[in-house]
Amino acid sequence: MITVENLSKRYGNTTVVDGVSLTVERNSITAIVGTSGSGKSTLLRMINRLVEPSSGRVLIDGRDTRDEPAYLLRRHIGYVIQGNGLFPHRTVAENIATVPRLLGWEARRIEARVAELLEVFALDPASYAHALPHQLSGGQQQRVGVARALAAEPMVLLMDEPFGALDPIIRAKAQDDLLDIQRRFGMTVVLVTHDMDEAFRLGTQVAVMSGGRLLQYDRPAVLLTQPADPFVARMTGLADRAMRLLSLVTAGEAALPGTCDGPAVPPTATLREVLSELLWRGADSARVVDAEGRVRGQLTVGAILARGRP
Ligand code: ADP
Repeated sequence: MITVENLSKRYGNTTVVDGVSLTVERNSITAIVGTSGSGKSTLLRMINRLVEPSSGRVLIDGRDTRDEPAYLLRRHIGYVIQGNGLFPHRTVAENIATVPRLLGWEARRIEARVAELLEVFALDPASYAHALPHQLSGGQQQRVGVARALAAEPMVLLMDEPFGALDPIIRAKAQDDLLDIQRRFGMTVVLVTHDMDEAFRLGTQVAVMSGGRLLQYDRPAVLLTQPADPFVARMTGLADRAMRLLSLVTAGEAALPGTCDGPAVPPTATLREVLSELLWRGADSARVVDAEGRVRGQLTVGAILARGRP
């Protein structure tokens, strides 16, 4: 768990982060959103002390982050930035091994961890372990950046616009991978993004910043249905809010008893995707069918529309 207490950062007379307090539960993802210059990156970087706070404090699992030197603290906190920040003259395996080496892990343990991460990130060791970053695609480089951040099994992962340089299709895949990996390793993730769809897709909780202040910190559905003020309502997208609400619920969760003749959709599809499919096919109901071919229920347009209202 990360506890941020009344955290501020001032440069001269300018306050760029202003008295922010929030708690990030273990094994969850917090997405920080806000306009450019609102203090998102500064807030994130104060968690691993890449930026030293002017006042306030940060606790990780109850321990003040100032209890150890910043360079040691950072070995236990994964950090991923846009454009991945890989060492260009080190191989993929060497990049991933960076922090375990600093921590003095035995060679065999490092080798095993690198092999595990290459597998998790679908990078065939024979082709990629000894490749240099520039020999990889943008999406692969980004995966290596995340693998490197996770190498020493940190409980906390900080990500600053991690998918900002990826094209939309690879970006969606990278987001799905992050959700999978977060569940698999049970990490606590704090992620900065300016992409509201990304924040809603990934965030267990979303923090909305403006002018260095935290305006609201809530679950996505609460931000949409009970925005703290007009700025939050605008940020979360007045025009898209019904669709965003639908994207927070899966077909499996919303399925009603019974079946129908409509198109089959998987339980993992969001209601937004199901509605789109129904519009496209001119149908008014869908069958929710799982991977084993079992019908899990049905969804009518009316039932979906009802979930898009506060
Ligand atoms: P965001 O991530 O929301 O775009 P940042 O946290 O990067 O915002 O920056 C917040 C504000 O702090 C900006 O106005 C930026 O210019 C200012 N700032 C960031 N770092 C420094 C610094 N080292 N010195 C002075 N001002 C800074």
